[in-house]
Amino acid sequence: MNRAEKEEKLITLRQIVRNIPDFPIPGIQFKDVTPLFKTKESLSMLTDVLLEEYRGKGITKVVGIESRGFIMGPIMALELDAGFVPIRKPGKLPADVFEEEYEKEYGMDKIQIHKDSLTKDDVVLIHDDLLATGGTMFAAYNLVKKMGVKNIYVNFIIELDELKGRDLFPKNIELKSMIHFEV
Ligand code: AMP
Repeated sequence: MNRAEKEEKLITLRQIVRNIPDFPIPGIQFKDVTPLFKTKESLSMLTDVLLEEYRGKGITKVVGIESRGFIMGPIMALELDAGFVPIRKPGKLPADVFEEEYEKEYGMDKIQIHKDSLTKDDVVLIHDDLLATGGTMFAAYNLVKKMGVKNIYVNFIIELDELKGRDLFPKNIELKSMIHFEV
């Protein structure tokens, strides 16, 4: 895919994302990603642009964040010849876990990963659907980093630029979002 073809696909995909005002509470512009997955054409286009960024990087594990990171995560993993590892909310993973606490809009929250899911030889791509304030992904990034893996890439389908979630992350990491909205 050349640059112009990629730009064209991204413009099409951006138009397919559905904005739902005031969901789940007044003032939020909710970006509904489900239309991206609904047709073979858009799902395939989205898969193409995501994979274009990560082929040839030696990724061995895609880590998806519950729950919308579980949709494109395994698709990317298969295509990259990598495995898939879930990060989940507390109480869902049955074996021994590492966990990370983080601040949400109201109070604290936790995420967990199985202790035996990653090794020091893994090159990891952490994926979620959307970057808002960045709290969730930053906790996931810290969780994976503490496991001592070789390298970490961070990916989102959508980034809400005005919320400046990317400012939480070290400047030298590769953090990419396919589609940008202001809010
Ligand atoms: P944050 O930790 O603030 O970056 O929030 C990230 C998570 O919340 C993502 O997994 C999204 O699924 C969800 N989220 C936050 N804001 C929105 C929004 N405006 N539209 C859709 N999902 C959102």
